[in-house]
Amino acid sequence: MTSSATQSTPAPAAITFVPGPVLLLGAPGVGKGTQAQRLMAQYGIPQISTGDILRANIAKATPLGKAAKDLIDQGILVADAIVQDMVADRLQQPDTANGYILDGFPRTLGQAHWLDEYLAQSESGVSVLPVVAVSITADFTELLHRITGRRTCPACKRIYNVYSNPPLREGLCDVEQAALVQRPDDSESVFLDRMKTFEEQTAPVIEHYRHQGRFRQVQGDLPVEQVTAAINAALRELRTA
Ligand code: AMP
Repeated sequence: MTSSATQSTPAPAAITFVPGPVLLLGAPGVGKGTQAQRLMAQYGIPQISTGDILRANIAKATPLGKAAKDLIDQGILVADAIVQDMVADRLQQPDTANGYILDGFPRTLGQAHWLDEYLAQSESGVSVLPVVAVSITADFTELLHRITGRRTCPACKRIYNVYSNPPLREGLCDVEQAALVQRPDDSESVFLDRMKTFEEQTAPVIEHYRHQGRFRQVQGDLPVEQVTAAINAALRELRTA
C-alpha cells in the first residue's frame, strides 16, 4: 500500500454532501483500505472492513477468529454466512447513520445478493439511499509490489512499503521504532492465491454492480491524493445523477 505516515489528511467535505452506503471494490493491494480511511476522515462515516473485523477476532482469539485464522493466512475466503452476519451486526450500529464505506465486502456474488436484499429491506436512515460502488484498478505488478512490500507497525498501525514508502531505518517504524511486521497473507505465494480468488469470485461482483448502474471505476496506480480526488468526484456524480 502507498499510505504513509506523512500523508496529509483530506480536508473535511461540505457537510451537505451525504455519501450514503459506499462499496469500495478492487483486487488485493489496490488501496481500498487506504482510501476507505481517507474517506472516513473526510466524511466522518465509518470504514467497515471485513478483513479488519476478522483480524480483530483473531487477535482476541474468539471462536470466530480461531475458525478464520487458517483460511485468512492462506488467502481463502471465509464462508459467506459468517461475513454476512458480521456485516449485518456492524450495520446496526448508530455510527452508520450518515453512511459507511464497505471495504472488502461483498467479495462473492452470494454476498452481493445478500447485501442487495438486506439494504432493500432497510426502511430507515441512510440505508434508504441506494448503494453506490467504486471499483479501484491497478496492474498486476503494482499490486504484487504493494502486497509483498507492505509492512505495518504493530504499535501505531502505520503502513509502509519497502518499495515505494520505506521507513527511514530498515525494518523499524519511524515513529515508534518498533520492528515492522508483514501480514502472513502478504507473501508472494498467498498473494497469487488471493488474486486467483479475486478473479474467480470477486470480479463477477464488480460486473454485478457495473450492470446495476450506480458504479464508477477509478485508476488506483496514481498518488494516493489523486485516487481520493477521483473517488470523491465519482461519489458526487453518483449521488447527483
Ligand atoms: P482483506 O484485509 O480485505 O484483504 O481480507 C483478508 C482476508 O480476510 C481475505 O483474504 C479473506 O480470507 C478474509 N475476508 C475478508 N473479507 C472477506 C469477505 N467479504 N468474504 C470472505 N472472506 C473475507
